[in-house]
Amino acid sequence: MRGEMMDMPLMISGILQHAARCHGDREIVTRLPESGAIHRYGYADAHDRSRQLANALTKSLKIKESDRVATIAWNSHRHFELYYAVSGVGAVIHTVNPRLDPAQIIWMLEHAKARAVFFDTTFAPLVDGIAKHCKSVKNWVLMAGTEHTGAVQTKCKSYEDLIGAHKADYEWPVFDENSAAGLCYTSGTTGDPKGVLYSHRSTVLHAMASCATDVIGVGSRGTLMPVVPMFHVNAWGIPYATPMTGAKLVMPGARLDGEGLHELIESENVSYVAGVPTVWLGLLQYLRENNKRIDSVERVLIGGSALPEALLRAYESEYGVTMQQGWGMTEMSPLGTVSALLPKHEGLPDDEIVKVKLKQGRLVYGVEMRIVDDEGTELPWDGETSGHVHVRGPWIAKSYYRGAGAESFTDDGWFKTGDVAYLDSDGYMTITDRSKDVIKTGGEWVSSIDLENAAMGHPHVGMAAVIGKYHPKWQERPLLIVQPVPGVEPDGASIREYLAGKVPKLWVPDDVVFIDEMPIGATGKILKTKLRDMFRDYQFP
Ligand code: ADP
Repeated sequence: MRGEMMDMPLMISGILQHAARCHGDREIVTRLPESGAIHRYGYADAHDRSRQLANALTKSLKIKESDRVATIAWNSHRHFELYYAVSGVGAVIHTVNPRLDPAQIIWMLEHAKARAVFFDTTFAPLVDGIAKHCKSVKNWVLMAGTEHTGAVQTKCKSYEDLIGAHKADYEWPVFDENSAAGLCYTSGTTGDPKGVLYSHRSTVLHAMASCATDVIGVGSRGTLMPVVPMFHVNAWGIPYATPMTGAKLVMPGARLDGEGLHELIESENVSYVAGVPTVWLGLLQYLRENNKRIDSVERVLIGGSALPEALLRAYESEYGVTMQQGWGMTEMSPLGTVSALLPKHEGLPDDEIVKVKLKQGRLVYGVEMRIVDDEGTELPWDGETSGHVHVRGPWIAKSYYRGAGAESFTDDGWFKTGDVAYLDSDGYMTITDRSKDVIKTGGEWVSSIDLENAAMGHPHVGMAAVIGKYHPKWQERPLLIVQPVPGVEPDGASIREYLAGKVPKLWVPDDVVFIDEMPIGATGKILKTKLRDMFRDYQFP
């Protein structure tokens, strides 16, 4: 017997339609990328302009169903409008990470056969450099008013002109919820970029799951600032979750420095912020140096790489902010696990609570997980046995765009994340490594994440990364690479001594080397591939 409920497709346009009706005057506040000025309007205005844009896409730019429309842009109200209008007309929004190599960007735009590219003024020089190589792109649109088009040599339209010529009378079509809605390439930290093609269904379900209290859980009274860019896995789904709940949305535009973020947090009374650890390190430094506070902030969602203990302690004890760690990836839309405390943790000593918060979090409902050994045998959730993490669920990729990377999917329907972790009986996951970063010394695994986190606790260490290097006796030993805190005379011996008290003896790196600047990749993470290149000829003393 079938249920007798309505069969209504989950449409991304439906989210904004709901927000316009029910939270019409809740604001989206943007620091405009082209001028730094503050722009504000409500969800109802955003809906109207998205419908103008939908008319412009279909009538002026002749965008058709399934066409790819790319963006090279910061977090802004216009990028938000593009999210809804492009998917809403049945086309696919392809968010491009501007921090990638221009050659990689050309490759992606060509691979995706993007028909149009919308870009911010900041990226005018980038566009001028790549435009002639992008054969499939028929239209370039500068996301600003006409007065800014002088900054670009490439023939382009102005966003404001483009939508100004159209009315807000567009009726969102309803179609198969499994239709493609968004395209995001993995940033290629560990290999060639591969496209992940999200659907309306996967996007809406992911947003609904993220609204749960123990996940992002921000209601209509909250104010959310995604510092994680809209070109990095849909800003973790926040531009879809906020209009669902009616939370105010604050878009930081091009200014992601400590001062810029602090200013917006204060002026907009931001209660919840999300981003990668490097961003929070920058803000922390600014707050400390300038004796500033962020009292409106209740929670910080931190993910993309492991939350260092020193950072967790600094925000929680100095600024009274709850740090919440999340884990996921492009292929997972991205949310997989988010950290939240259980009733049994109440009353535990601080150090025990910190241990729980340093885990990557608990599975979000909708994501199933298993850990397996090298032979594929499932391992127990006993809080100590590490294995390869496999996941499946309605917002997890079942294949890559245009058939790439088939080896990442198992025959029995799971996605191989490439992460190595252990799980405990409460479903908390602790990542110990990425498969490609694993260090094995004399047959034992060293967790580079734990080692890096421990090193970050030393007062001389600004950033830390561990890579494995050949060793004649042990096959491989950890080498610790450190970007020191500015102004200190760093001392490798004292760092090794410090680590000896914090991690198993076998893990203590044989050497510590210092570099002026850690290579940071396009998604704000330390680029271990680059470090391996830099230290290719290194030999332990
Ligand atoms: P890329 O694979 O190019 O870095 P993603 O942003 O999709 O792009 O990165 C996903 C990966 O980031 C995960 O597979 C995992 O290794 C790492 N990661 C994400 N969140 C965390 C976290 N909280 N702790 C440790 N690693 C994390």
